[in-house]
Amino acid sequence: MKKVITVLPGDGIGKEVTKGAVEVLEAVAQRYGHSFRFEYGLIGGTAIDKTGSPLPEETLEMCRRNDAVLLGAVGGPKWDKNPSYLKPETGLLRIRKELNLYANLRPISLHSSLAEASPLKPNIIEGVDLLIVRELTGGLYFGKPSERVSQGGKEAVVDTLFYKREEMKAILQLAFKLARKRRGKVTSVDKANVLASSKLWREVAVEVSGQYPDVELEHMLVDNAAMQLVRCPRQFDVLVTENMFGDILSDEASVLTGSLGMLPSASLSESSLHLYEPIHGSAPDIAGKNCANPLAAILSAASMLRLSFGMDEEAEAVEKAVQEVLDLGYRTGDIATEGSRIMGTKEMVHEVKAAILDNEAIAHIMSAYA
Ligand code: NAD
Repeated sequence: MKKVITVLPGDGIGKEVTKGAVEVLEAVAQRYGHSFRFEYGLIGGTAIDKTGSPLPEETLEMCRRNDAVLLGAVGGPKWDKNPSYLKPETGLLRIRKELNLYANLRPISLHSSLAEASPLKPNIIEGVDLLIVRELTGGLYFGKPSERVSQGGKEAVVDTLFYKREEMKAILQLAFKLARKRRGKVTSVDKANVLASSKLWREVAVEVSGQYPDVELEHMLVDNAAMQLVRCPRQFDVLVTENMFGDILSDEASVLTGSLGMLPSASLSESSLHLYEPIHGSAPDIAGKNCANPLAAILSAASMLRLSFGMDEEAEAVEKAVQEVLDLGYRTGDIATEGSRIMGTKEMVHEVKAAILDNEAIAHIMSAYA
């Protein structure tokens, strides 16, 4: 198969982890006889510095003409004081909107060998396997007005939480469809005791659930969900929620797996063009030090193989390689525990690639003896 992948490294560790993910995709291409071509585009602070825009038109055009997008992360202190149209995060929000990436899927399952890296007790996190489905193009991050205002000479601020019924319906429908392929349970998270938007969200959730009688629906208030995620995360199968609640809850849920550096995500549109990115940010505190965990980006690339290219076997090969490397005790600093072998970003990528290619060699030997 021939595929062209847009790579948007972005800022900080985004550059390091996407480099690792590209190398792993190259190893997959070598093992399975595919041809992947990578085109590099600018986004975020790096794009501001080079072009004066956090999301240049050429980047969008590149995304639209190619088969899938791999994104690193954007942001950093250098651009924190910029006006909002010149902030890296504005580029991120805009690419989501422009490519209509309405659904962000964040699978959270525990690699058994990482149980000790989690701050939670093993009996709480064992067997955790949940999927957070976050609405990505509406709500508080996009509503207008969003500004500082002056009221009677005094300073005030306003943000707007705006949703159309159809936007809620689309994300809830996706959650129910995905739950059908899993354990058949949807937890819809809202703040319906306070927010008008959440009252409508709950109404739409009930309406959509009528089309999926085989899927159980439960409602949970977001404050309770934040608590239940660390108290008893095994109770969740598919957790669906609006943009900001999903942003916060998925970062919280990342500690279940030990680190933000372990969690991949897929942002889906209704067309065939999807974007894949680790859930972590640009981590300026560790950028350029070869110590970022590349596994979230590598696992995001595995999701690309499965969801965009239909390459299930190849995706599994990457996931298996990651598992093997972890089982061998190899760790970046963020997931290190006593007795583990600590390595840098590049070394970790090397080990994952080696696992993918070694497994190929083993498969050849086995088939020769079969
Ligand atoms: P962050 O995710 O960058 O980092 C939070 C903490 O986790 C830091 O201590 C960091 O060192 C650590 N961490 C994150 N990813 C890691 C990895 N792969 N390996 C090891 N450790 C890792 O969040 P932040 O510090 O709140 O934000 C930094 C910048 O990133 C900000 O400018 C923010 O706006 C931006 N951001 C971007 C995205 C994105 O591009 N999708 C998401 C979140 C934050």
